[in-house]
Amino acid sequence: MKQDNCIFCKIISGEIPAHTIYEDEQFKVILDVAPATKGHALIIPKNHYANMYELPEDTAVEAIKLAKKMMQVMTDKLHCDGFNIIQNNGEIAGQTVFHFHMHLIPRYKDDSEILKYVSLHPSQEEMEETRKTITE
Ligand code: 5GP
Ligand code: ZN
Repeated sequence: MKQDNCIFCKIISGEIPAHTIYEDEQFKVILDVAPATKGHALIIPKNHYANMYELPEDTAVEAIKLAKKMMQVMTDKLHCDGFNIIQNNGEIAGQTVFHFHMHLIPRYKDDSEILKYVSLHPSQEEMEETRKTITE
């Protein structure tokens, strides 16, 4: 389940060092090498799955459970004021490492905005069309 040339597989195997803040049989949680805020961490499953599409459902459930646990511990220890959990799938969505991971990003009162996008302004008809496309 390890893929050659995958940087996160190498971190999991110990070939590349990382600052590990939690580890169990299924996951490693490490500090991001280029943190958006103090404590920015990544939940990484030990098995290689490229993204959420490939992730088995039971691993997804465990990842969310771990995210909730880590968010609580990190909030208590870092005294952050809020928290983002981000997960990118595909290059267009900002994914740069193609081994599934979830970003745990503690947010602080005076930190800089890290998530900004320009809102679309769809008409009611376009909204309805989108609703139909997804549900029918
Ligand atoms: P993505 O853009 O794929 O959602 O996130 C990849 C994240 O992995 C980035 O935030 C990046 O800083 C982090 N990253 C890339 N290479 C390494 C590494 O070698 N060690 C650690 N700790 N983080 C890494
Ligand atoms: Zn990998």
